Amino acid sequence: MRIARSIFLGTACLAAAAAQGWAAQDLPIFDAHIHYSDQAWGPFPPELALAILDRGGVSRAFVSSTPDDGTLLLHAKAPNRIVPVLRPYRTRDDMGSWTKDPTILTYVEERLRRGIYRGVGEFHMGAGEVGDPVPRAFVELAARHKVFVHCHCDEGGMEGLARLRSDVRFLWAHAGMSSSAAAVERLLDRYPNLWVELAMRSDVAPGGTLDPAWRALFLKYPDRFLVGTDTWINAQWDRLPDILNSFRAWLRQLPPDVADKIAHGNAERLAASP
Ligand SMILES: [Zn+2]
Repeated sequence: MRIARSIFLGTACLAAAAAQGWAAQDLPIFDAHIHYSDQAWGPFPPELALAILDRGGVSRAFVSSTPDDGTLLLHAKAPNRIVPVLRPYRTRDDMGSWTKDPTILTYVEERLRRGIYRGVGEFHMGAGEVGDPVPRAFVELAARHKVFVHCHCDEGGMEGLARLRSDVRFLWAHAGMSSSAAAVERLLDRYPNLWVELAMRSDVAPGGTLDPAWRALFLKYPDRFLVGTDTWINAQWDRLPDILNSFRAWLRQLPPDVADKIAHGNAERLAASP
């Protein structure tokens, strides 16, 4: 009896999911913001990191690391699933000085010759550094190698980069971290080459309910948003499946075709050559 009842309930759930247009299994996510930096290598060897991605229902991921060797380690274990993005920091010490350091440019040019990378970043840059030589050179390199640029920057920094070349695709990390939906909309209106990822932006769905302003923006630009975890500290690896489930909770408040795009479709397009 109990078995029959659970089969009935299971079938009812499947039917409900189908009626809403959802597959019964979890919505796969292309995680647009993974780091596999040196502090993660000991506690989370590649096999464990990949097992955590399994548990999180991650179909593919953009991975960038300090140093880049972390990305290569993970990519070697799962070349179809791990999409390498070239982080310009050889060590954390480079974070504060990279925009004016010509040796960083040489390093990035050499690594890009491997031909495995789909992007350059994630790097951190303020609006006052847009005119510095290395970020400008990265945009030219991105055009030549047909890769995107992943910037953790404020609105001024993002706009300064995005206007440099309309034929380069830019991925705005954390939607500026604190930029409002209205501010993000203004940049999306102005720069068709701009894409936005929502790592660490729990304000998109306070208390689990999608904010109306963000919802309207996702419906206006369903092809321009991505989601990601940002494993910048090891605690984020532990929490990764929970973080992705919190994304799924608000993605399910959108029409299924829009949710599919933000969960994985848009990142798949960004990962492909322009
Ligand atoms: Zn990051």
